[in-house]
Amino acid sequence: MSNRRTFLKNISLLTLGGLASRQALAAPSNTLSTNASAPVSMGTNAKQMGLQTYSLGQELLKDLPNGLQRLAKMGFTELEIFGYREDTGKFGDYNPQNTLFISPKEYKKMADDAGLKITSSHLTPSVRDYIPENMSKFEDFWKKATDIHAELGCKYMVQPSLPRIENEDDAKRVCDVFNKAGEITSQAGILWGYHNHNREFERVLKAGEKKAERPNRRAPQGTYIEELFMKNTDPKKVMFELDVYWTVMGQQDPLDWMDQYKDRIKLLHIKDRWILGASGMMNFPNIFKKAYEIGILGYFVELEGDPKGRTQFEGVEASAKYLQNASFVK
Ligand code: MG
Repeated sequence: MSNRRTFLKNISLLTLGGLASRQALAAPSNTLSTNASAPVSMGTNAKQMGLQTYSLGQELLKDLPNGLQRLAKMGFTELEIFGYREDTGKFGDYNPQNTLFISPKEYKKMADDAGLKITSSHLTPSVRDYIPENMSKFEDFWKKATDIHAELGCKYMVQPSLPRIENEDDAKRVCDVFNKAGEITSQAGILWGYHNHNREFERVLKAGEKKAERPNRRAPQGTYIEELFMKNTDPKKVMFELDVYWTVMGQQDPLDWMDQYKDRIKLLHIKDRWILGASGMMNFPNIFKKAYEIGILGYFVELEGDPKGRTQFEGVEASAKYLQNASFVK
């Protein structure tokens, strides 16, 4: 069986389509400026481009109004923010150095001034035990958060962290909470979603079942957590934001998941090792093609910290340029 390293090395053999050719990635720009530092027209030719602001963290928060202007100039049109504080209803950063906490009203005004829309937000309840006894605590969290996010004009509220799940029964209890959360946000016209990392592509068994000592590799035991989420949540209440990079890191092909759950996956996280397109391991032309085919509502670029110590703004700007130059991005 291939381990993760050989999987990544051999990714070109998968239906993902393999390493995208440099030529395909460097498709010529026809309508928009190739200079990411130049203002991009926000007219009818503007591409829909979202950014998860976690990508910038403190670099953005230390001068939010100017940072937002910079993002608009790179061509971003919408934001998915993070850092909702349950206690104050304000937004900040989980970084202990953070000193800025912004009210939804202030955040919206700054985004409006920059010509950006805050359409989505990542947030996770502080309650950790997904048991029926805690349902009212989850309800309180999502009700208050919904009021705050409605003030921001958000269309989506997305939970990005996986609760503790060891078996199918745990997953079902978690889905009961997800359904309740979706029911609450929908009352304000906000879609509730779940965002994956790679752990969602681990398989779990039914409670009490034991893994066979000699597993049959052709008939793996158990069900992917992501699949249990898809099957045990109500499509009217819960949608999915597929993080395509973490899906690949979970040894899965994002195209397969988009095909199989075309009615459930409404948003994407567009992510690479750092700058989009630079690693060659993500086939973004095919990912975008499939995304438009299934009618996704939007996507958000996301970058973790750079191991080489470049600023996050450099990575975000280079990624914006990549999308602006890509003929496969509408
Ligand atoms: Mg992500």
